[in-house]
Amino acid sequence: MSDLRDLYQEVIFDHNRHPRNFGALANANRHAQGFNRLCGDRLTLHLKVQDGIIQDVRFEGSGCAISTASASLMTEALKGKTEAEANALFEGFHHMVTEGGETSVNLGKLAVLAGVSEFPARVKCATLAWHTMNAALHDHQDPVSTE
Ligand code: ZN
Repeated sequence: MSDLRDLYQEVIFDHNRHPRNFGALANANRHAQGFNRLCGDRLTLHLKVQDGIIQDVRFEGSGCAISTASASLMTEALKGKTEAEANALFEGFHHMVTEGGETSVNLGKLAVLAGVSEFPARVKCATLAWHTMNAALHDHQDPVSTE
């Protein structure tokens, strides 16, 4: 188990140091901003959604290692997914980091953040990108706050 934990931490550190899909996105048609007051994490999400499928997704902003790694992993997970699949991932991920334990959704690489469930103060860091994605898909205009 501790080897697994080290591996998970390595993936999180790697995604924090080298965030994937970071920056502006030309032709994006959905945008949302998220802010986690508790930690100071901020991010802006850009999505290109066509025919109900997330064609591309990128993010900008700055935050702690957990929020950055979570956003980076999320962008990788969302590409090519339908909006319904993205919602299912969001629910599965949310369950994993709040309740812990098994989920009925296959989260793939996102499972590296399972340890967050042991640190309630970091849950908002891990879910910020996902709440923001949810707002972008539902076209909410107001910035998302995790409060
Ligand atoms: Zn944070």
